[in-house]
Amino acid sequence: MREFLIAGNWKMNGSRSANEALVSGIIGGVPAGSGFSLLVCPPFPYLASVAATVAGSAVKLGAQNVSEYESGAYTGEVAPAMLKDVGCEYVIVGHSERRSLYGESSFQVAAKFLAAQAAGLTPILCVGETLEERQDGSTESVVDFQLNAVLDAAGVDAFRLAVIAYEPVWAIGTGMTATPEQAQDVHRHIRARLAEKDAGIAESLQILYGGSMKGENAAGLLSMPDIDGGLIGGASLKADDFLAIAAAASQG
Ligand code: PEP
Repeated sequence: MREFLIAGNWKMNGSRSANEALVSGIIGGVPAGSGFSLLVCPPFPYLASVAATVAGSAVKLGAQNVSEYESGAYTGEVAPAMLKDVGCEYVIVGHSERRSLYGESSFQVAAKFLAAQAAGLTPILCVGETLEERQDGSTESVVDFQLNAVLDAAGVDAFRLAVIAYEPVWAIGTGMTATPEQAQDVHRHIRARLAEKDAGIAESLQILYGGSMKGENAAGLLSMPDIDGGLIGGASLKADDFLAIAAAASQG
């Protein structure tokens, strides 16, 4: 049985005082029940202080990006081992904003995925199509291409310790959410692609949905058989909004 993972991608938002209030609010309101875990992904400068705040709580820590290199002359970059060193368990790789605004290719994303795992981090691999790609019927081939780049570089075994986030680009930060059925179709497709290589890994892999997920639509999305949680942007910046999604994931 897969647990839900409810992950907050804070993007380039926050301050020391705002983060403290947000994380304390989340920790203080973690829903009773089980079957889910919570994760926050603050900007780099705040990782260490948020690590101290979440220590001993039910909330885990992740980063939003990572270098594909171990160390050296890469000005402005952050190495996987550094993230591990400050307490991260997870790191997002291949977010569509990284792909579109910073030109990250699927091959570079695959290198980041590998580097993250080598340092003991769990990568959250983001895949998803643009509106144009959905409209011209290429959603599955776009997702396959993004996924295959990682499968070719890392092999299917690497997905034992990884998470995938399906994030249709047209739904990110737009208020347009994929319907539960639209999301389920792509999640099912992703799981089936992996099952062709290893059925056990495909079955245990968490596949999150991302794209304007909020308290009002979370229950519908999370009720789908292949949706195992959410990667949440806007609604992760207010404790009550994030907790409303967590409540939809909580069982019992
Ligand atoms: C995201 O940035 O990964 C995301 C899903 O954002 P939002 O929830 O704001 O659409």
